[in-house]
Amino acid sequence: MSYRIFIASSLISKEALELILKNNCTYEIGDANDTPEETVKKLGKFQPHALIVNIQEITREALLASSSLKAITKQGVGYDNIDINTASELGIPVMITPFANFESVAEHTLALMLALLRKIPHQDIFTKNGGWDQKDYTGYELFNKTLAIIGFGRIGRRLSELAAPFRTNIIVYDPYLNSEKIPDNITVLNDLNKLLAKADIVSLHCPLTSETKRMIGENELSIMNNYSWIINTARGALINESHLITALRNNKIAGAALDTFEKEPPDADNPLFKLNNVIVSNHIGGLSVNSFRNMGISAVENVLTVLEGEMPDAACIVNPEVLNKSKKNNI
Ligand code: NAD
Repeated sequence: MSYRIFIASSLISKEALELILKNNCTYEIGDANDTPEETVKKLGKFQPHALIVNIQEITREALLASSSLKAITKQGVGYDNIDINTASELGIPVMITPFANFESVAEHTLALMLALLRKIPHQDIFTKNGGWDQKDYTGYELFNKTLAIIGFGRIGRRLSELAAPFRTNIIVYDPYLNSEKIPDNITVLNDLNKLLAKADIVSLHCPLTSETKRMIGENELSIMNNYSWIINTARGALINESHLITALRNNKIAGAALDTFEKEPPDADNPLFKLNNVIVSNHIGGLSVNSFRNMGISAVENVLTVLEGEMPDAACIVNPEVLNKSKKNNI
């Protein structure tokens, strides 16, 4: 059968689009800058059977706009931008592509960590501008540092593997961890304040939920050591951004490397961009040539599997209760 697939972003690999066409389906692509209201309009007009989402907000109105909608997938894993409650209420399975981009995020986190400690972005600008003066340079090694990983899932775990050869001491906070699967070199410390007090580097890798929103604020930043750094490649809203700015301005912590922000895209005059002890990237942690191709292909496979009435991989389903219902209703 031929299905209509709407891609709520201009970001999708050509291999994914080829796969859609190979399966005799049609597609329409939104724009990366579409507002939620524009997405609603486009969905209403195209009436897709499936929706592929990137980082755009998918509201209740968007989900109600297409009466044909039977499957939704995120290209990636963080699904906090999709109204899951409404999708579940409508009986629509929501999926993610968990195996496509965790390597990319873990490597980007390590890259940010090294760039922050070695001050590589500053060195790049300084040297290219004719600077040649080593006496004021203060870089740090990752060697022997205590790395605190908050959220020990696919990305947190992979980061721990990448950081281990630097002989870091790795401590982990994850209240939902299955303790049987902890490697020997990892210490679990499920007391956030104690973990923050011990850390040289704190790296966030948990999902954004009502429980984790602003889990790092004034209190947590005050517990961190004044020589410690924070890295956030998960979601901006895990940190209270204005409290972070204050802590960085007052040297309560040594620095931050951020791939994600409370508001995305951030305002051009975001005070973080003026701070010398901050380095940033624009939410590209999960993007590499490889992961981009794989996320698109996995997303298309996800929606085609559901549209054909088959069960997708259990690791991909966000609201599995809906699948059992849809199976009964034979979608
Ligand atoms: P995952 O589901 O494999 O792991 C998340 C871990 O967080 C789980 O082990 C879970 O138990 C833990 N967790 C849940 N609540 C927690 C809490 N209150 N405190 C501490 N830990 C908690 O997910 P993943 O694939 O490792 O991805 C993690 C996050 O990274 C995603 O939710 C997403 O927001 C973000 N992400 C960002 C990018 C990017 O481009 N920057 C790309 C992919 C994912």
